[in-house]
Amino acid sequence: MVNHTQKTKTISLDNYGIKNAKINYQLIPDQLHAETIAKGQGVEASSGALAVNTGEFTGRSPQDRFIVKDDITKDKVWWGNINIPFESEKFDKLYDKITDYLSGKEVYVRDSYACADPNYKTNIRVINEYPWSNMFAYNMFLRPTEEELQDFSPEWTVINAPGFMAVPEEDGTRQHNFAILNFTKKTAIIGGTGYTGEIKKGIFSALNFELPVFKNTLPMHCSANVGNDGDTAIFFGLSGTGKTTLSTDANRSLIGDDEHGWTNENTVFNFEGGCYAKVINLSQEQEPEIYGAIKKGAILENVIMDDKGNVDFADTSITQNTRVSYPIYHIENIKTPSIGKNPKNIFFLTADAFGVLPPISKLTPSQAAYHFISGYTAKVAGTEAGVVEPVPSFSACFGAPFMPLHPTEYADMLSKKMKDAGVNVWLVNTGWTGGPYGVGTRMKLKYTRAMINAALNGDLGDYTYEDYHIHSVFGVAQPRTCPGVPTEVLSPRKTWNDDKAYYTMAFKLTNAFRENFKKFESYASEEIRRGGPQRYAF
Ligand code: ATP
Ligand code: MN
Repeated sequence: MVNHTQKTKTISLDNYGIKNAKINYQLIPDQLHAETIAKGQGVEASSGALAVNTGEFTGRSPQDRFIVKDDITKDKVWWGNINIPFESEKFDKLYDKITDYLSGKEVYVRDSYACADPNYKTNIRVINEYPWSNMFAYNMFLRPTEEELQDFSPEWTVINAPGFMAVPEEDGTRQHNFAILNFTKKTAIIGGTGYTGEIKKGIFSALNFELPVFKNTLPMHCSANVGNDGDTAIFFGLSGTGKTTLSTDANRSLIGDDEHGWTNENTVFNFEGGCYAKVINLSQEQEPEIYGAIKKGAILENVIMDDKGNVDFADTSITQNTRVSYPIYHIENIKTPSIGKNPKNIFFLTADAFGVLPPISKLTPSQAAYHFISGYTAKVAGTEAGVVEPVPSFSACFGAPFMPLHPTEYADMLSKKMKDAGVNVWLVNTGWTGGPYGVGTRMKLKYTRAMINAALNGDLGDYTYEDYHIHSVFGVAQPRTCPGVPTEVLSPRKTWNDDKAYYTMAFKLTNAFRENFKKFESYASEEIRRGGPQRYAF
């Protein structure tokens, strides 16, 4: 499947301003794995995977992500604290510094592309200071054929130097680390952070601007898979809500776990060529496909191992955000190429730590629009003893940090597409049941999978009184029964065993939804506003 014999080709980086570098072009994963270990930047785990530490940063740094304000972006980007403007001249200066920094060094260059649909193929060159970051690019982007490489010309270039530190007073950054997108130069520069996720989310953000603006295609922060009948399902959700976990299903072919485009030609395609899974508390029993993907070729990040290289997935002493990246072919059941038809079912995943949203419910089109714009999930406040209050977190389109345009532009496209395609939309609470975080428990993965399967198989009945109960606060339709799931689990109120406490919490969440939605109220139609929770505090 993968051709690892690489014809040699020499490239120069002079045109980037990177002079006299020792260029390692298009090394195969085995070589990058070995180089990483030889340089003391990683070790091999007992599974055969490469294990690295990403350093100071073990997650993205949204406050240090900038977009150059230029003729292309100035009138289109939704500027603010998500899309923070950066001056062109400042970018040029910082670019000179970072390329100077890489000059004379050993660097790793990888030519790859994003977008599995040939009509949208976007060539990407990634220039890395470290071999493991370059191996990440191999895993996560799509891999060109030998022929494609011969006359490869990059459209976007990512320059990634974790060891280069910006000087905020001189460079105009917030602190020493930064990720800056320049749409005129089609270049992303990332410095001061080794967190690999910045590389993939940088390109994602670029596509989230270019696809809707220039190519009439809706970019989505979602996973996707396809059933034996060719029915596509997509799963939107913020970090940790289950996109990767739930799309990786032995009975359905994986299209991708994080970033997709929905075209006007009725297709859904993956932007990427690999997956980036959370491994906190990963178990072979519960997530066998992901567990099995952790082998030679995969890169584990920030995990703790014993002296035999066995990973302790429960150990979060470096970070809660332990990860593994692997090329998609590490998963057995995949769709090749990574393209599906129009989705038949759309799932909005939310990890509701208030524990009040039903574990699965069906949404009307106006509720779908409302929830997409709201993009709700919850964070659990700290880990200090006694702090159990969940904090609501709203991120428009379930991915605001990666969306350069105003959220309503994506929401309008999605609404129209959902209407045209006649999809079913479901809200799935993969979070708490039986009480809020601290009192209740996380929904069993087994039950969430059963509910999703039931929705996919049409086992949740018709949108009628017999089959559904309309939730008195959220207005969503809660199925009365679901194969493989105890009936009482379907009603969050029943799992609490305390109606007063349940409704008090439900109203709290309702008020949070309302508060958040204020900023969209002037835009949203009456129809969309009606999609929100219907009852508020007494
Ligand atoms: P990101 O955007 O950061 O990649 P993600 O949406 O892909 O996030 P996952 O990597 O799938 O999120 O993380 C979900 C986590 O929650 C996993 O660690 C999974 O094991 C755990 N989990 C526990 N219970 C459930 C459940 N009922 N449904 C889904 N995931 C669950
Ligand atoms: Mn994921």
